[in-house]
Amino acid sequence: MATIKLRNVSFNYATPIRKSGLRLFESPQESNEEDLAVESSNGVKALDSVSLTIPNGQTFVIVGPSGCGKSTLLRVVAGLERNYSGQILYDGEDMQIVPASKRSIGIVFQNYALYPNFTSEGNLSFFFKLHQISDEETRKRIEYTSELMGIGFKQLLPRRPLTLSGGEKQRVAIARAIVRAPKLFLLDEPLSNLDAKLRVQTRTEIKRLLHKFGITTLYVTHDQVEAIALADQIVVMHSGRVEQVGTYRTLIENPLNLFVAGFLGLPAMDLFPSSPVSDGRLVLGEYAFPLPESVLPLLQNGQQITLGLRRETVKVFPEIESMNEVHLQAQIEAFESDFVHRTQTVFLRTGRFQFSGLCPLDMKLHVGQSVPVEINPENLYFFDTHSGRRL
Ligand code: ADP
Repeated sequence: MATIKLRNVSFNYATPIRKSGLRLFESPQESNEEDLAVESSNGVKALDSVSLTIPNGQTFVIVGPSGCGKSTLLRVVAGLERNYSGQILYDGEDMQIVPASKRSIGIVFQNYALYPNFTSEGNLSFFFKLHQISDEETRKRIEYTSELMGIGFKQLLPRRPLTLSGGEKQRVAIARAIVRAPKLFLLDEPLSNLDAKLRVQTRTEIKRLLHKFGITTLYVTHDQVEAIALADQIVVMHSGRVEQVGTYRTLIENPLNLFVAGFLGLPAMDLFPSSPVSDGRLVLGEYAFPLPESVLPLLQNGQQITLGLRRETVKVFPEIESMNEVHLQAQIEAFESDFVHRTQTVFLRTGRFQFSGLCPLDMKLHVGQSVPVEINPENLYFFDTHSGRRL
């Protein structure tokens, strides 16, 4: 187990690109020199001054759009990319000159990366053979790991990868990563090749394992549900930078900037087009939203502000009109029933502004209808459009 610290880590890809594609998260012994393409990339800045501390035993889940540097971050932490600037520390020890094979890490890839000619047991024992660890010790470790992996895992041990389903292959890949008792567990989109049902099952299994195992974990995914289910803390990345780190709740309630606000959330916040400040109010077409007292001193007339709004705070057909709320008239563009929460999601438009709100399930609606809408001004989010920072 280890505390992992990254200090101002930057990384550029200036090396040849592999013919087989850009997603190269594979263990070093599996990399294939012939796979190197002749063309060179122009030097892509994949990580830009990343600082991050993952406390011992915690699970940090990295989310962000495709190409934002999630896999690269894992590769750099694993030691598969060593040409970075800044520092990576495991329990205070600088890892710059420590090769990946000496870092006690367990890695799980999207594509399983199992050795096809070995049985599952062979895949699990490969590491021990490589390090000339006794058969007795190997047997004990495999036995312990099989127990940990739970029901039905032992039956997979004599089978080769070709005879296993996707879910079973991923269980073997996870077991192969933990059998060596790693200090650090790295998972790169481990569930994305599985169908929806298996994904949920395997996710629950990983959660159970992480809990039992208590091992420091970095987990890359583009699936927010996975992030919410597994993370102690979520790391939101964008263009090689860490935008914000926090629990899901913190990130949803207190996004630091426009990117986090527009990226996270099921659904993400509605963001209105940028609009100017006028005499302490935000002017949106024919409507003016009062700005909170706390931000007024920071604002200048004419400054461009982006307003963010969560669906839960927009009431369609409010029962009693309260004086303190902002009232609008909007047109229904579409609506959907949500039977679990006994509500309807209503997609609305007023002028050029599109947003969504909620109303009770039994309310009769039709497309094109003009409806009253109430918004609590205390639940509005204001962002400086230019810097993206939350005010
Ligand atoms: P993510 O995992 O978030 O999708 P990656 O870490 O794979 O993002 O990629 C980050 C950036 O680095 C992207 O712009 C990607 O195109 C680029 N990249 C990734 N691998 C290589 C490589 N081997 N050579 C050149 N550029 C790469």
